[in-house]
Amino acid sequence: MNDQDSQRRVVIIGGGFAGLFAARVLRRAPVRVTLIDRRPHHLFQPLLYQCSTGILSEGKIAVPLRDLLRKHKNADFVLADVTGIDTEGRRVLATRPLGDQLEFGYDYLIVAAGVQQSYFGHDEYAQWAPGMKTIEDALVIRRRVFGAFELADTAADPAERSRWLTFALVGAGPTGVELAGQIREVATKTLRAEYRHIKPEDARVLLFDGGNAPLAPFGPELSAKAARTLSKLGVEQHMHSIVTDIDATGLSVRAQDGTVTRHEAGTVLWTAGVAAPPVAAAIAAATGAKQDRAGRIMVGDDCTIPDHPEIFVTGDVMSLNKLPGVCEVAMQTGIYAGERIKHEVTGHMPTKPFRYHDLGSAAYLSRGRAVVSVGRVHLSGFLAWVVWLFIHIGFLTGFRNRLGALVSWWPAFVRDVRRERTYTTEQVGLIHSAYDVLPPSAAGPAPSASGTEPSSRAG
Ligand SMILES: Cc1cc2nc3c(=O)[nH]c(=O)nc-3n(C[C@H](O)[C@H](O)[C@H](O)COP(=O)(O)OP(=O)(O)OC[C@H]3O[C@@H](n4cnc5c(N)ncnc54)[C@H](O)[C@@H]3O)c2cc1C
Repeated sequence: MNDQDSQRRVVIIGGGFAGLFAARVLRRAPVRVTLIDRRPHHLFQPLLYQCSTGILSEGKIAVPLRDLLRKHKNADFVLADVTGIDTEGRRVLATRPLGDQLEFGYDYLIVAAGVQQSYFGHDEYAQWAPGMKTIEDALVIRRRVFGAFELADTAADPAERSRWLTFALVGAGPTGVELAGQIREVATKTLRAEYRHIKPEDARVLLFDGGNAPLAPFGPELSAKAARTLSKLGVEQHMHSIVTDIDATGLSVRAQDGTVTRHEAGTVLWTAGVAAPPVAAAIAAATGAKQDRAGRIMVGDDCTIPDHPEIFVTGDVMSLNKLPGVCEVAMQTGIYAGERIKHEVTGHMPTKPFRYHDLGSAAYLSRGRAVVSVGRVHLSGFLAWVVWLFIHIGFLTGFRNRLGALVSWWPAFVRDVRRERTYTTEQVGLIHSAYDVLPPSAAGPAPSASGTEPSSRAG
């Protein structure tokens, strides 16, 4: 038996912030690490909205996990979808992309599978209203946002044109607010001079939320400032609004007084809720762990599942003391799990429970405007934007990506130029073809084949 065979096996499910930081801590520990992810890259989700609105390419916010682990001599990466675990046999069960089964023995397991979009029981909305969690989502949104202006440009019917120039976002948390601001900036700045038949700046951006203010978790002061900045940008905010239906041509929304209003919108984007991925339910069933309302696995204060000291749950998929689903929690719990395993295998038995150190939060509103909350310090406007810039450069994974983001931000922030607007019309994603977005009957008359202009156009 060689040294490696006698070493304990650590399996990590998920290569997001929690999984990656756990692997980093274990890099020099006497263990064998297998990191399994259903995707080949580590994704920096906080900048997904910049990918979908043409500022950053997908390569700048996603780094191959193999690249990140190349110097970890004790780590292996596997592209597979984990479907469950066998606690008796201490095996992780997974499916290869081709559909066949894989098994991985473990002595320690770190569950770091994150969360996915939740449509609150209305999964049928997903076909019309993509969420914002993955690179695939960001590329679908990019195509739908920029594609909508093209469809508006060639729409002969004014009602159809106005529908394509209406963007509805559901959820006024950081992602919804950031996307709303970006779409208005795309319309009023980037595309301003590019169209001859429409005025892109006519684009309406409607932001819906069931709460009473955007960015509510930032507190009333910053939330009010964010609302004012969004109004100045031209984002129409509909608070106390519950979405009751979404279809190919828009959405219906119930206001606080019970009235339901229909809004025609060519693009509806969903940034409202999250739920644990299916693997969380499988792990809970195998271990007897409890799940919270969003399906996250409830753990003790050492981040392990009760009666399973060998299974750690970290990051967004973990439910502990109502900690928020943010990068800092993911990194800190990943580091904690890694440290604990390292100590145990080297004969030290740490007893300290996990303690979260809140480093604050930031949200981007528009060029030169952001909000930042760090303890009692609340910043908004340009100063907050500069802080936002440093935080995001600091946390982006990999030096090349940091440099690349700075190079992309320069023309975007100084000259409103968005260089990453490439999209295909036949693309992977929720809808096969840009031309399938609407059934033919709803898409209005086709432009004339003779090359003459459709009869009624704006501008
Ligand atoms: C659009 C957006 C903006 C955000 N903005 C901010 C922000 O500004 N600040 C902030 O602090 N936080 C922000 N967050 C939250 C932050 O990104 C998350 O808290 C963080 O990524 C959580 O890390 P994680 O490792 O727990 O999960 P993730 O980063 O989601 O990683 C989970 C990994 O597990 C993999 N996985 C899932 N299921 C399986 C399976 N069955 N088998 C194998 N692999 C699997 C996934 O492919 C993924 O790679 C944002 C999130 C989003 C979506």
